[in-house]
Amino acid sequence: MPSLTFYGGVNEIGGNKIQLEVGGTKLFLDFGMSFKIVNQYFAEFLQPRKCTALADFFELGLLPDIKGIYRADYLMHMDRPEEERSVDAVLLSHAHADHAQYIHFLRTDIPIYCTKATKIILQVLEETGSNPLSDLVTACDAFTFYTNKKGNLSRVTRRNTEFVHERIYHVMEPEDKVKIGSLEIEMVPVDHSLPGACGYIIHSDEGNLVYTGDIRFHGSNQALSKTFVEKAKAAKPKWLVSEGTRIDNMQQDSEEGVKNVITQLIATAKGLVFVEHPIRDLDRVNTIFEAAKANKREFVVTLKLAYLIEALGASAPFSLSNVKILVPKKSWGLISKDGNNRKLVEQDYATWERAFISRENAITCNELQQNPEHYVASMSLWEINQLTDIQPEAAIWIKSSCEPFSDEMILDEERKRNWLEHFGIKDYFAHASGHASGAELKAIITEINPHRLYPVHTEHSEMFKEFFRNVEMVELGKTYTL
Ligand SMILES: [Zn+2]
Ligand SMILES: [Zn+2]
Repeated sequence: MPSLTFYGGVNEIGGNKIQLEVGGTKLFLDFGMSFKIVNQYFAEFLQPRKCTALADFFELGLLPDIKGIYRADYLMHMDRPEEERSVDAVLLSHAHADHAQYIHFLRTDIPIYCTKATKIILQVLEETGSNPLSDLVTACDAFTFYTNKKGNLSRVTRRNTEFVHERIYHVMEPEDKVKIGSLEIEMVPVDHSLPGACGYIIHSDEGNLVYTGDIRFHGSNQALSKTFVEKAKAAKPKWLVSEGTRIDNMQQDSEEGVKNVITQLIATAKGLVFVEHPIRDLDRVNTIFEAAKANKREFVVTLKLAYLIEALGASAPFSLSNVKILVPKKSWGLISKDGNNRKLVEQDYATWERAFISRENAITCNELQQNPEHYVASMSLWEINQLTDIQPEAAIWIKSSCEPFSDEMILDEERKRNWLEHFGIKDYFAHASGHASGAELKAIITEINPHRLYPVHTEHSEMFKEFFRNVEMVELGKTYTL
């Protein structure tokens, strides 16, 4: 009998790890990190220990203890015998951490299906991230020694390229249908707050299953989500696994509305404009870019954003040459001192950052200080110490990201407020969610009309019962026969 097992995404927003088994074929729909559990047990200076491999993750329910899915180097470190692969593939809906982060722990021979943009973002996370769990596209053998030139044992690092293995990625194009075992998989792009997001329609002899991933209908790619709903409906699914982040929220968001507000705020600003936004939400980044352009200001991006825009190439909303790149002081701060040769300055930066330093469109905080009225700068709490270099006057700060929802985020927000107060910066808010509203969810579920609905990625699955007849209130770790 076909079955669904929910190892994450239950009574919480994110952490999706859903196993589907049909006719002997086993798939995972996403393999993400649970922010809820991480926040319950951990803090900035209290993290799961790498030295225990998977043990801390199993103990606290961050990962399910199941056979045949985890990487051999970690299992060996836990003295667990070798296992045979038990899963045929992972279908990845998008590259947000709550859907993709824990790919890090998976065997490298499990094929991962996703869109081209998703793979690029994962690659960028691996190359530029500071997260130790970023073996996303390649995996480097952990807890492994090699014999060095002197004949002694040394610990393997990523520099020992023979120990770095490529994961198996299958990049899917819209309209592509691929066979995995007894199943036929259709990737359908959707609108979300990250490039490359998609849902899946899984066709089988026993019935079809639709998985929404994370979806919305008010971003610049809203037409994609509408097509997704049409295709999902046409598939006459027996089962629908739907996200429900905002089922309790009837507010209709609009990215266009965010653009209008930001454009207006920039128009009235006398000094520098800072915008805080989700770093990889290129829909929002484009909104800010357009709002700056409408006010004849230039958009200034961070090094991380510059790297992402360049990596996405034609899939990015604009070319990196159309914006300025802010090169901050790092390490010894030589960028703003005269007379240093390029080689010395470069040593202040990570290898991936060096390529941007001498670009024609690279600027430093000095330029922002001297001509504040020319620019709109991407900024976050993590770079806010540059305000000391900028010494802004009459600047404004637009928060264009979600309100804090954890204790840690509330504290960070307070810290940010202190910085803004210190520099006399006035703050504003303009944001639209990455998720469909309650009314939209209700409309699409009624439209797709599956035999049975499995709400995930929500803290209010009971609310689905108010409008749909056949709702499974899924429980963590439980298997449902389909
Ligand atoms: Zn999510
Ligand atoms: Zn998401």
